[in-house]
Amino acid sequence: MITLIGFFGLFVGSFLNVIIERLPVGEQFFYGRSRCDACKRSLQWYEMIPLLSFLVLGGKCKTCHAVLSWQYPLLELSTGILFVVYYLFNQLQLYVDPITFVMNLFFISTLIILTVIDIKHGIIPDELVVANCAIFFLGTVLRLIFAITMGVALYPGAFILPFLSSITSAVLAGMFFYSIVWITKGKGMGGGDVKLAFAMGLILGHPQTLIAIYVSFIIGGFYAVILLISGKKRFGQTIPFGPFLALGGYIALLWGERLLQLYLTMFTRV
Ligand SMILES: [Zn+2]
Repeated sequence: MITLIGFFGLFVGSFLNVIIERLPVGEQFFYGRSRCDACKRSLQWYEMIPLLSFLVLGGKCKTCHAVLSWQYPLLELSTGILFVVYYLFNQLQLYVDPITFVMNLFFISTLIILTVIDIKHGIIPDELVVANCAIFFLGTVLRLIFAITMGVALYPGAFILPFLSSITSAVLAGMFFYSIVWITKGKGMGGGDVKLAFAMGLILGHPQTLIAIYVSFIIGGFYAVILLISGKKRFGQTIPFGPFLALGGYIALLWGERLLQLYLTMFTRV
């Protein structure tokens, strides 16, 4: 199963590469074949095998010998690893709750895309937020159908509570980030972060959303301090926050409950 998830991650990763290249410039990514960036020649199927093609072709275009970006194989590999790690921490979920498992892999994919796009372009595309909301409502409908057929629809833990926790987390997370944007007058964060926080609340629910935001602020703050000390940035200069939210979201997805427990035990002991 690990191998299967890993290979699936590699292929998803190569599709994510296409989205990352085409989404910011508004190109269609479901149609049109992949092309070499330098000579615009359409790629053959054997030039689009994740990792393998890059290694076999030595990281160069077959005809024009232009050097291909390391971003491609690196992102494919990262996606594969992130999928496998998620599976390793949630092996039971695949069998007990496959709807959530697939939803979370989708969520992880959007986190990877927005991390790269936010670093490169400083924006968080609305499409990613919309896609997560859509997948949440699709998942909700599927869960409801599942709960009804199992006869547990009215049992609070089966459907109603998780649904309410997602909606509340989304609204509160969105409002929290909106207030930051409002207070800092958009200097610290932008509207993209607000929308992303909302979408993350939907997917993660409670308490994972809280942990995701908490972790992202700790790591983001730590990174900012390092930049200030090393003199790479001056005070008042902004850094994209999307990647830190994405990282926090992924960590919350893996260890959400366990991190909260650790945090609570640390504070009750003091
Ligand atoms: Zn070429």
